[in-house]
Amino acid sequence: ALQLTSKDYVEYIKRAYELIHANGDYITELDSATGDGDHWSNINMGFEKLVEEADRLETLNLFEEFKEIGKIMMSVIGGSSGVLYGSAYLGAAKTLKDKDVITSKDLCDVLAAMLDAIMARGNAQPGWKTMIDSLHPAVTCFKESIEKGLSEEETLALVKKASVDGAENTKNMEAVRGRATYQANKGLGHLDPGAVTMSYQISTLMDYALE
Ligand code: ADP
Ligand code: MG
Ligand code: MG
Repeated sequence: ALQLTSKDYVEYIKRAYELIHANGDYITELDSATGDGDHWSNINMGFEKLVEEADRLETLNLFEEFKEIGKIMMSVIGGSSGVLYGSAYLGAAKTLKDKDVITSKDLCDVLAAMLDAIMARGNAQPGWKTMIDSLHPAVTCFKESIEKGLSEEETLALVKKASVDGAENTKNMEAVRGRATYQANKGLGHLDPGAVTMSYQISTLMDYALE
């Protein structure tokens, strides 16, 4: 059964950084089409800093680790996404008080708390062409799979797919939040960059949890 330690979580961060780092041109292109072109640079800088701090982060308990990740993301990523990820990690930290490991159920609670925090901070709903549109379907799928009693393997694989499909669906959405709202067509026909990088993170986390 799944049991992620704070050291495991740092290992996941390193892998997410690799995937984000490798997709610079692609994500920059996405944010250039509907925004100001800096999303990859913002998020890449944040993860780079987290990787630099890895040795320190992995000595912390999960509660402190998530709070630190939130602080680093908030200060280093910048832009809209920095504040939103900062809030997400601070929200998730609260679910991890007194926990030494993250079980599958805990991981569902962590993602649900991130979703709540991002929706509250961004004053945004699912379907509004933002990072929420990858995270929300992932959380819904996670909760439903646990309720149905699906195996952990099946659950984690389905959550990964839900996050990727969710990001893909932003192509058909009109933006109600974020810079794509300034476009005449509200970004219709384009992927939301923040949803794509959210799906990178969720996918990497699910892959790591499946090992
Ligand atoms: P900025 O738009 O300030 O340049 P980034 O480019 O780093 O910031 O991030 C843009 C992403 O942030 C968008 O693609 C979208 O996914 C997300 N986003 C923007 N505003 C909101 C919001 N109010 N709620 C949720 N997500 C948002
Ligand atoms: Mg931007
Ligand atoms: Mg910007």
